[in-house]
Amino acid sequence: MESQVDIAANLAHVRDQIAAACTAAGRAPESVELVAVSKTHGAAMVERAIAAGQRVFGENRVQEAEGKWPALKQAHGGLVLHLIGPLQSNKASHAVALFDVVETVDRPKIARALAREMDRQGRRPDCLIQVNTGEEPQKAGIAPGEADAFIKSCREDFALPVRGLMCIPPFDEEPAMHFALLREIAARNGLPVLSMGMSSDFETAVRFGATHVRVGTAIFGTREPYPPVAAPGVNPPAA
Ligand SMILES: *Cc1c(COP(=O)(O)O)cnc(C)c1O
Repeated sequence: MESQVDIAANLAHVRDQIAAACTAAGRAPESVELVAVSKTHGAAMVERAIAAGQRVFGENRVQEAEGKWPALKQAHGGLVLHLIGPLQSNKASHAVALFDVVETVDRPKIARALAREMDRQGRRPDCLIQVNTGEEPQKAGIAPGEADAFIKSCREDFALPVRGLMCIPPFDEEPAMHFALLREIAARNGLPVLSMGMSSDFETAVRFGATHVRVGTAIFGTREPYPPVAAPGVNPPAA
């Protein structure tokens, strides 16, 4: 039962694993930010993570996040909320208002909508460009071969605060080569943030330079799938 999951113990364990992976890679443990992915879980579960000291969270869907985060943000200072699921342009205004980081900028239409909303609201969430490193047709993200031009356009045409890159490797492949590719694209574009690694592969991601790992199941336990059922590692339908 989800309420019996020991979130504090899980968080402590994941933090230990991150620290150990950092040490093994010759990195400082504080160089990796743990983004606790709370999608599908209610505010009571999130409260338990907050009580255990967690402040940075990830949500997939704008509408779902709007149902729980305004009250949580009002009740607790210092919370940082990442949007990690696909964004539709008609939700850009809600995304800019609620999220502190938008990790899934992946096409000009979204870049334009975000830029317009940031100007209008005077609020500028950090942006990450999602790269479809496996070039999977069903998955969101800009193709690796188009990434440099898109990053340039996000910076120059849309003046977005682009801080880094995000990827979700194909779930049936070794993630290491995808992490290496993301790191290479970030390096040649001078981008410091690398959001990569989930419950099954965050230690590998740390080895390849992740600055943010997005961990859900290892903290909150298993989720009820969104309808329609999404394959592991595949983005659910856009919010
Ligand atoms: C759900 C999700 C995660 C967390 O996945 P777990 O395997 O539960 O850790 C990370 N990133 C994205 C984009 C997700 O949709």
